[in-house]
Amino acid sequence: MVAGNWKMNGRLAVAQSLVNALLDGPIAELAGREAGGIDCLVCPPFPLLLPVGGQLQGSAVTLGAQNVAATDDGAYTGEVSAAMLADLGCSWTLVGHSERRTLFGETDEIVAAKSARALAADIGVIICVGETLEEREADKTESVLARQVDALVSVIREQSAERVVLAYEPVWAIGTGKTASPEMAQQAHRFIRERLAAGSVVAAPAIRLLYGGSVKPQNARELFEQADIDGGLIGGASLSAADFTAICQSAIA
Ligand code: PEP
Repeated sequence: MVAGNWKMNGRLAVAQSLVNALLDGPIAELAGREAGGIDCLVCPPFPLLLPVGGQLQGSAVTLGAQNVAATDDGAYTGEVSAAMLADLGCSWTLVGHSERRTLFGETDEIVAAKSARALAADIGVIICVGETLEEREADKTESVLARQVDALVSVIREQSAERVVLAYEPVWAIGTGKTASPEMAQQAHRFIRERLAAGSVVAAPAIRLLYGGSVKPQNARELFEQADIDGGLIGGASLSAADFTAICQSAIA
């Protein structure tokens, strides 16, 4: 799986030309698992979900949101529920991106509640975990990952691997140009998979674990070659049709 996280970028016209450029390129031959390709999706900001979803119709590239409310519809000004995302044609949503955790105070409990709402609305979840630089330097990477994963297991324990994806995104590698080495990323991914299994998550061996953090066409292949890295969550490079397509290409074979 390769997922593009546009973050809070993309005016309507810019987004539409990005999607046109993407669909004009070889993405059609790469996307779509039934045809032997990969799951490929883009996650635009909320106001662009409808127009971008319209453009993607009939293509194998799917639509994801960047966030979802932890509650059902109701008096929650500014929130967007999982049912609304489903209405707009989202098959996936990101949950617990580090920017949500650090800038908007999302706790492990909120991330678990959001994941549960999305799954209940039949939307697949790409749940982000990862340590800060401070935590890595204090040798706390595994304890942070353990805490973040343990908070999720009761929600995802019985889910199929088709609907639950975890993204390991070391916070120090997001948008910084610093990438975890393939070995470092593999070690974290292996740890996450083992932790899921220890939490009796039935699908642990098959759950896709994406790496995110300054993935570019130049470093994607060696990351994706690692045994427990099953694709990527791409920020900056997903705003370029050529780079995003090249990264998707690296995920095949
Ligand atoms: C992200 O936003 O999830 C991300 C990984 O960003 P970037 O690829 O720009 O580091």
